[in-house]
Amino acid sequence: MAKRSWAEPYKIKMVEPLRMTTQEERARAIREAGFNTFLLCSEDVYIDLLTDSGTSAMSDRQWAGMMLGDEAYAGSANYYHLEEAVAEVYGYKHLIPTHQGRGAEHILSRMCIKPGDVVLGNMYFTTTKAHQELAGARFVDVIGDAAHDAADLSPFKGNVDLKRVEAAIEKYGAARIAYLCLQCNVNMAGGQPVSVANVRAVSALCRKHDIKVFLDATRAVENAYFIKQREKGYADRSITSIVRELCSMTDGCTCSAKKDALVNIGGFLCVNDDALAEQARGLVVLFEGLHTYGGLAGRDMEAMAIGIRESVQEDHIRARIGQVEYLGRLVEEGGVPIVKPVGGHAVFVNASAMLPHIPREQFPAQALAAALYVESGVRAMERGAVSCGRDPDTGENIYPTLELIRLTVPRRVYTQAHMDVTAEAVIELYQRCGEVRGLRFTFEPKVLRFFQARFQQV
Ligand SMILES: *Cc1c(COP(=O)(O)O)cnc(C)c1O
Repeated sequence: MAKRSWAEPYKIKMVEPLRMTTQEERARAIREAGFNTFLLCSEDVYIDLLTDSGTSAMSDRQWAGMMLGDEAYAGSANYYHLEEAVAEVYGYKHLIPTHQGRGAEHILSRMCIKPGDVVLGNMYFTTTKAHQELAGARFVDVIGDAAHDAADLSPFKGNVDLKRVEAAIEKYGAARIAYLCLQCNVNMAGGQPVSVANVRAVSALCRKHDIKVFLDATRAVENAYFIKQREKGYADRSITSIVRELCSMTDGCTCSAKKDALVNIGGFLCVNDDALAEQARGLVVLFEGLHTYGGLAGRDMEAMAIGIRESVQEDHIRARIGQVEYLGRLVEEGGVPIVKPVGGHAVFVNASAMLPHIPREQFPAQALAAALYVESGVRAMERGAVSCGRDPDTGENIYPTLELIRLTVPRRVYTQAHMDVTAEAVIELYQRCGEVRGLRFTFEPKVLRFFQARFQQV
């Protein structure tokens, strides 16, 4: 059979006009935003690749589901629909809905961490680590070396290095390790997947030492797609069965439904342990809302239940990741240094390779994201030293190996032509990147500084 390209498995029924601005307008906007793309007004953005979080286009079914919101305070029908969908795709015993992923992270961290504990993880994620630290833990990275090498072509660069887990157990003792947080499609490494074989080995090792494993299932569906493509024995398996297998090897999960699950707001915590579930239901009432809505409207839970089922459809996930790979190929063909292989949700441009004239202390990725916006109206995000923050013990800046900007593709929102325009802009900027200047802080927030920090050019 002749090769068939992926194409969007939907047609467009409603459109939202985009606004193009002039370069002078954008230069003013980014100055007013303190050279932080998070502080731009979205009205001043042409193609918004800041994040794929909560930016998905919902389907007609999901919008129809919004009209079926049962806004009862307790026992909403939509909660039971959500419970059914989560059980079907993720397979854990107990569901606790939360307003988004960090709500679930907050509850899990509070339940399972004592001050002085250590949490292991395959590279940190910003909000996840912040909640672990808030609960008194220190984060210890146990991801393999390949994740830190933008050019390494290993198929599963998200994998945990078992030797690092063993070393951490040796150093801190298993009793001090609150849990291992296993991220799917590791965001900060460039959206790189973990393999089933690795998860199985990690899970066995942790069980042996009585250490719990919690999945960050935010991108488990996209991870499952890569497993289907790349891991031996999985080519004929359904996406759902692969997600279920990943989840079955862990004790529970936190999940931001704003990513894979195709909704604009929502998240959940799942656990298998009955006592832990009871404790979580006690905390969710305090911080989110009653355990049958967790800070969400009934209609949001209905849209989430439908989105979860749509997210695992093969034609959807193939087109979703196909579009990201398409953008990655264009940018790479233009000679721009990117993290490879291209991940599930974004193309990560290697800012330190692109701007060798800007020292790390002047935040090359932050500067590059600002310059790309001025050049083209395309909004990207810094994923480097600004995102990484400071060492909580020494107060020094942490400089991660990867200093990147992320071109994040929202699900079902932009067309291939938008990807063409984006790639052209990145390539053009690459050819003139010697003109980009470094930045220094004028305002540095203490927690999750990248969201609200302000800079000026040096
Ligand atoms: C987005 C994200 C979170 C946090 O979820 P929110 O819904 O933004 O609170 C946690 N982990 C990963 C991997 C994410 O991508």
